[in-house]
Amino acid sequence: MTSSQAEAALDTQNRPVPRPGVLDIAPYIPGKSKATGGATLHKLSSNETPLGASKQAIAAYSDLSKVLELYPDGSASALRQAIGEVYGLNSDRIICGAGSDEILSLLAYAYLGAGDEAIYCEHGFLVYDIAIRAAGATPVVAPEIELTANVDAILERVTPRTKMVFLANPNNPTGTYLPFEEVRRLHAGLPASTLLVLDAAYGEYVRRNDYESGMELAATSENVVMTRTFSKIYGLANLRLGWGFGPAHVIDALNRIRGPFNVSGPAIAVGIAAVRDTVFVEAAVAHNDIWLPWVTQQLEALGLSVTPSVGNFVLVHFPEQDGKRAVDADRYLLERGCVLRLVGNYGLPNALRMSIGTEEANRTVVDHLKAFLQA
Ligand SMILES: *Cc1c(COP(=O)(O)O)cnc(C)c1O
Repeated sequence: MTSSQAEAALDTQNRPVPRPGVLDIAPYIPGKSKATGGATLHKLSSNETPLGASKQAIAAYSDLSKVLELYPDGSASALRQAIGEVYGLNSDRIICGAGSDEILSLLAYAYLGAGDEAIYCEHGFLVYDIAIRAAGATPVVAPEIELTANVDAILERVTPRTKMVFLANPNNPTGTYLPFEEVRRLHAGLPASTLLVLDAAYGEYVRRNDYESGMELAATSENVVMTRTFSKIYGLANLRLGWGFGPAHVIDALNRIRGPFNVSGPAIAVGIAAVRDTVFVEAAVAHNDIWLPWVTQQLEALGLSVTPSVGNFVLVHFPEQDGKRAVDADRYLLERGCVLRLVGNYGLPNALRMSIGTEEANRTVVDHLKAFLQA
């Protein structure tokens, strides 16, 4: 025992101790926001949009500065109404949260406890692991095939203890997706008492005929919830706003345990303006439609392998060669102002995730990687 371990052991007898499991949680590691060099910073580490936010959304935000002393509407009803109108959903079955991360945590707290299991996929979003453990339940990881969720592997792991299945579709950090036939097959194979959580944080970006975000399944089933976020395509990550849509009984349970004012007034006002600005969203999709394939092709032309992505980011795999690995590329890019994301904690030690940026950012990263590989 080192002296600091001995100190810690002694200390736990004289201080509050978290519930079992809390200290087993690996803290979430956010993407870096600073480079170590370079004149211009290109932050491509957190799948933020390069297009900023809608002008109407920004105007709504500054209007709210006049009423900061007032509590917001605790049920965010005007925002739920606006989302319901734009997406064609019953607003009574929508819940808003401080980011979709809050919705994911509320789901875990409401439905999971000690002795329960919840399944997520091998390279799935790590917030699921945190939410499951924080609720006292046990995460069960289903292996993937070719970095894609595997319905059979998920269903094989269902036991009478399985209360929840988390599926990011498309998934972060891989960018892969399940066609909706497969999502339906997954749902059909789950017990009625298991809640299927479909996280469609990147749903707006997907251009595939066989993709659906899960809205209809959530509208017509008693055990499916879909979550969405304002952080990605709407360019509002800093505001913290997300929502979930599901059966009335699930929304009712979440409303009972959430904070009474979990969404701020600025977030409500900005969310209303943003969701109504469909022209802004279309422009963001159009930008991605140009630059996602461009970045993919350019990186492949450099000899790198890129996992086919339907989101606003790509997963890039590096050579198993000293000096050319993902950590080396990451360091090289950071020194030149480009911040990407190492994903070793996702079981992908030799890959970098790159968000699709501005034309300048995309070209700069490709140029630097070309030089890096040739050096
Ligand atoms: C970014 C992301 C979210 C959104 O998180 P917020 O809390 O809404 O910012 C949710 N799920 C996945 C898979 C993501 O990548």
